[in-house]
Amino acid sequence: MAIVYVAVVGVVDLIVGLTIGHAAWQVALAVGASTVAVTLLTVVLVWPRLRQLEAATNVARALAEGRFDERAEGDDPQFGSLAAALNAAGERLGRMVDALRLERAQLEALLNASSDATVAVDRGGAIVYMNEAAAQMFGAARQEAGRAFIEVVRDHDLNALLAAAAQRGERSVRVVTYGPAQRWLQATAVPITGGGGWAALAVFHDLTEVRRLDSVRRDFISNVSHELRTPLAGIRAAAETLQEGALREPVAAAEFLGHIQREADRMTQLVEELLELSRIESGAAPMRFASVDAGALVRDTVERFTRQAERAGIALRATVPDAPLHVAGDAERLDQALGNLVANAIKFTLAGGEVEVTAAGTGGQIMLSVRDTGIGIEREQQGRVFERFYKADQGRGGGTGLGLAIVKHIVLAHEGSVSVESRPGHGSTFTMVLPRG
Ligand code: ADP
Repeated sequence: MAIVYVAVVGVVDLIVGLTIGHAAWQVALAVGASTVAVTLLTVVLVWPRLRQLEAATNVARALAEGRFDERAEGDDPQFGSLAAALNAAGERLGRMVDALRLERAQLEALLNASSDATVAVDRGGAIVYMNEAAAQMFGAARQEAGRAFIEVVRDHDLNALLAAAAQRGERSVRVVTYGPAQRWLQATAVPITGGGGWAALAVFHDLTEVRRLDSVRRDFISNVSHELRTPLAGIRAAAETLQEGALREPVAAAEFLGHIQREADRMTQLVEELLELSRIESGAAPMRFASVDAGALVRDTVERFTRQAERAGIALRATVPDAPLHVAGDAERLDQALGNLVANAIKFTLAGGEVEVTAAGTGGQIMLSVRDTGIGIEREQQGRVFERFYKADQGRGGGTGLGLAIVKHIVLAHEGSVSVESRPGHGSTFTMVLPRG
């Protein structure tokens, strides 16, 4: 009985065990299937939306970082419109930033193209902007932004002007002298309202050249008047003497008429040289460049002045190499320049002295020099003899003071240079350096 009982229990146990195992298996199968279904659903439905959300987030992040070219694509009803809105914002911001950048670049170009120095400062007087002209004028680097204006310019007048505009809103225009070179500056300082960090702006216009030209013009008028006054006074005195009776004395009359003639010649020479100088300076007399033989130029000039030198008791000679030396220049103008130097050398050399005219070449240059054993020029006057109307030895030469200015401008028109070396009492050497032709 007991055995039967055990057997029955065993069979029931087996049947129950089998039944439960089957159910668990089914449950496991169901769970597995639904997980796969959910995962598939997630992949099919949610994943694209997640990707659209991520793309939209990337656009938002890029906008926050100041990059406006990032775009998101989306057709999802929710995320798609978010992406479209962000894309539109990116496009608008991008266009706005481009427009601002362009405007800034144009303004910067405008300020840098200006020869006027422009500086902006904040309320505390620190530089917030300076253009290239300002950096040049104040000998500063453009990266001076952040440094105090006074530290950079080291000028209390200019600083006070900007401080008044930045702190008290005062607008002012003043002409001041600046720096060791004492340049004349017209400084205009204006306050800026609503300029953010820009509290005041100053513009410095350099008037030095204008003032120099003005003084050159005034000097020129006074020099011409002075040069004309002497011959005019001579002519007037001679004419009065003739009127008062000298006209009736043939010998005296001839002498006074000769005097009038000489003074008139002097005025004519002055006017002609002035016209010549202004033609060369203004470029109104165009140079006719050709290859000119410097040796032939020297020989011709010496020949032209031989009689004049003989009359003055001066030995005039040419020293030129056998081989031709070609200068790139205008033969007529070079002849005129060399002639002026030789005429001076003869004029300022005493009888018994000598004048040597030389042509030589080194590298790409040709040197034409005129050396004399004349009176020489004091050291402090040597730099000035090329100025218009400058006469180192007043009255001695009786010239106009324009000869060397003409030489200088002819040489400059040839992109060359002219210089003088001189020892007072021993003589001078004038040298023109010209490009080889
Ligand atoms: P100028 O008509 O007076 O000669 P220039 O311009 O030719 O005018 O010369 C200017 C001045 O330079 C002269 O007045 C003279 O004082 C000085 N000078 C020029 N050449 C010589 C020279 N060879 N020797 C000494 N002084 C010279």
